[in-house]
Amino acid sequence: MQEQDSERKAEELWQRAIALLRDIMTTDEERSQMERYLPMFTYHGIEGNEYVVGLADQFQVDWVTPKLALPLERALHASGMPREMHMKFSVKQMAENMSVPTPSPVLAQNKPKKTVRQSSGLSREFPSTMPLHENYTFENFVCGPSNSFAHAAATAVAKSPGKTSYNPLFIYGGTGLGKTHLMEAIGHYVLKHSPSASVCFITSETFLNEYVNNLMNKSLTAFRERYRKVDVLLLDDVQFIAGKEQIQEEFFNTFNELTLRHKQVVMTSDVAPKNLNGIEERLIGRFQQGMVVEIESPSYETRLAILKSKAQSSQKIIPEEILKYIAENIRSHVRAIEGALSRIVTFMDMNGNMPLTIEIAQHLLKDSIEEEKIIKDLSINDIMQTVAKFYGVSIADIVSSQRTQTLVTPRQLAMFLSCKLTTKSLPEIGKAFGKTHATVYHGSQTIQKRLDVEPALKKAMEEITSLLGRKPSDVLD
Ligand code: ADP
Ligand code: MG
Repeated sequence: MQEQDSERKAEELWQRAIALLRDIMTTDEERSQMERYLPMFTYHGIEGNEYVVGLADQFQVDWVTPKLALPLERALHASGMPREMHMKFSVKQMAENMSVPTPSPVLAQNKPKKTVRQSSGLSREFPSTMPLHENYTFENFVCGPSNSFAHAAATAVAKSPGKTSYNPLFIYGGTGLGKTHLMEAIGHYVLKHSPSASVCFITSETFLNEYVNNLMNKSLTAFRERYRKVDVLLLDDVQFIAGKEQIQEEFFNTFNELTLRHKQVVMTSDVAPKNLNGIEERLIGRFQQGMVVEIESPSYETRLAILKSKAQSSQKIIPEEILKYIAENIRSHVRAIEGALSRIVTFMDMNGNMPLTIEIAQHLLKDSIEEEKIIKDLSINDIMQTVAKFYGVSIADIVSSQRTQTLVTPRQLAMFLSCKLTTKSLPEIGKAFGKTHATVYHGSQTIQKRLDVEPALKKAMEEITSLLGRKPSDVLD
């Protein structure tokens, strides 16, 4: 009886603490973090002097708790938890035992070459899945600060598809940074551990084409039925459905069906959901309901680690000096790094006996490195010039101290773009503008916020970005 009473009290304490936590989070950033993460926590029980809060899996322990542990413990104390008590996180038992969804007919198989194509006899029953690339596995994915969050989320999903709250898992980031690789790795993992699971990997473009074909053949019902049988839907490059309303409707319904049945949906896109122009709000809302993770450009160390791993699988002995040279000079994305490495490997294949020197490597990679320079090396001055020209003002105006709105916007936009498109630090940018680093920071933040609510400013930013030879996705996050 007494035990029941203390359980009830502990539960009430939990409810109070949660309510309090909602009140004490003041900034938008804190609130949005809390809205996203708090539903993952549940009251678990009391163990001695510890108030145990349950989490579903190790991913949450590693990534979610550092963000909310301290405020949550404070809220518990403020809600009446005795001072000598502490909060502890614990992974719920069931998470460990969770496995892949109920067996259903095989779609993609472990041997990718044999996966179902439309021409196969199975295609009438199952959605066409594209073959998974053999090498796009977790084992071949090199982790670094730029992708470890996405990697951790992908691993959690692969271990318990449809059973975590990361449904859908939305992976976004620039081109060639490993989104498709990571998504396919989930597919490989699920199939390896549960060969009878139905995994469908498809680009949004193929999804669209298939929809249109079925629409013309008046076989939409069958099309829908097929997608409902999927355990894991891996949908690549969802930005492709922007502006195509009918398919969005179809996708919205498929999506709801699958998530309602606890089937896993994973998507990739080149921009964050909120920056997907031409996609309905309600769909964007759905995309954000699970877990949204970004893959960023890899750091030097990660680039080098990727190179070493790829060099090893090419079974060539490439001098460290040359790998470092590539990692230093090819910085834009992983696909470009692979391209550079494959040039070296081809050269080695063709000139078996000739030792590979740094001079030869420099020569072989000259073009790629030139391209990189064009991609990466924008100067602050280039940015100021382009922004000034766009707004019909002068560079002198931009660096002046005049605070009229006609100058403040171009000035802050130039600061924002300098932060996003150059590798310069805040103090360096400040110096170029004749301002402090705090002013640059404030200016950039202001633009970042305005971009979300001012379509005209966003359009101007997109045009300027394109004048600078960049894509909006290089700037937006
Ligand atoms: P995206 O879909 O983001 O455009 P991909 O997944 O196609 O990029 O990746 C491009 C190439 O780079 C692929 O060959 C992929 O294997 C490789 N790659 C990207 N990131 C990594 C990584 N972290 N470790 C190993 N290979 C990677
Ligand atoms: Mg891709």
